[in-house]
Amino acid sequence: MNVDRLDHIGIAVESLETSSAFYRDVLGIEPDGVEEVPDQKVKVAFFTVGESKIELLEPTAEDSPIAQFIAKRGAGIHHMAVRVDDLPAALEQARAAGIRLIDEEPRVGAGNARIAFVHPKSTGGVLLELCERR
Ligand code: ZN
Repeated sequence: MNVDRLDHIGIAVESLETSSAFYRDVLGIEPDGVEEVPDQKVKVAFFTVGESKIELLEPTAEDSPIAQFIAKRGAGIHHMAVRVDDLPAALEQARAAGIRLIDEEPRVGAGNARIAFVHPKSTGGVLLELCERR
């Protein structure tokens, strides 16, 4: 699949403002900016750490997948994202290997990346995002 790095760790938070303070003030990492992703009903903030990022996700609606995640399990690590250079090819490869996909086709995520999620049932319990940055 040509995974060349851990792209980011996604963390579900109740409030971007409250949670950002920890990363900014305690860890000393400035956010890259805040962006809304209407498709996933979230507002996200990225914090760059070396070649990887920390993505904070705040739900913008009650039926946001992130709101449902927080209601069920509380705030915390939601997914892990690895960088691939060719997402359609990676999805094709996953399908051929019998991997269960949440997204059969690439969709547009934060930062205009092309993303697709892989089901935790196929990854040992981790929601995995495949991420292609253009
Ligand atoms: Zn993500």
